[in-house]
Amino acid sequence: MDALFRDDAYAQRCTATVVSVDERGIRLDRTVFYPTGGGQPGDSGVLRFDGGEIRIADTVKGDGGPDDVIHVPEDGAAPPAPGTAVEAVIDWERRHRHMRMHTALHLLCAVVPGSVTGGQIGADKSRLDFNVPAASLDKDAIAAAVNALIAADTTVGTRWITDEEMAAAPELVRTMSVKPPTGSGRVRLLDVEGVDLQPCGGTHVARTGEIGGIEVTKIENKGKQNRRVVIALKD
Ligand SMILES: [Zn+2]
Repeated sequence: MDALFRDDAYAQRCTATVVSVDERGIRLDRTVFYPTGGGQPGDSGVLRFDGGEIRIADTVKGDGGPDDVIHVPEDGAAPPAPGTAVEAVIDWERRHRHMRMHTALHLLCAVVPGSVTGGQIGADKSRLDFNVPAASLDKDAIAAAVNALIAADTTVGTRWITDEEMAAAPELVRTMSVKPPTGSGRVRLLDVEGVDLQPCGGTHVARTGEIGGIEVTKIENKGKQNRRVVIALKD
């Protein structure tokens, strides 16, 4: 399966062929649909084909490795048969918000000291949990620091390293709860130039300026040494 979203987060559509259909959903030979993972929700969208179309409610990973992507149809929709040629189109507005949010969380990670214990991306709000002591985090100061990094309009890129290089550089892993996706021989690093560098398989915007500005809506105490920082996009 060709995971087109991995090389081009801006690809909104592609042609593809249905490989198989089972009770979980539809597998294609290639796709622009990002499957739920790394705190980022799976894409929704539509598969169009000769004679109809089917709404895709969610995209998830199967058991066949990182590139086993299952398109989950909306309830009751009849899927196209294996061999059918389709055009796969994601709900771009929703996905682009995920990309902006996801990139904003990398900046948040760079601004707040301490390791990350969890996180969740959403189109309307996102959060990261930090393992930091009782020292209080300041909402306005964090928002100002993140927005300064956004205003700097820094390049966001990816590069690949080998599993061995990854193993030799444990300091790259900021997120304790998510193991880097090793096993395929190589690991993708997300590089916000000079700001944040860590393994990540998600989709991001190409420059930080595209995030457009965030606010820190709340900081919650989630137990000893656990602070949850919640952000929203300004628009
Ligand atoms: Zn990321």
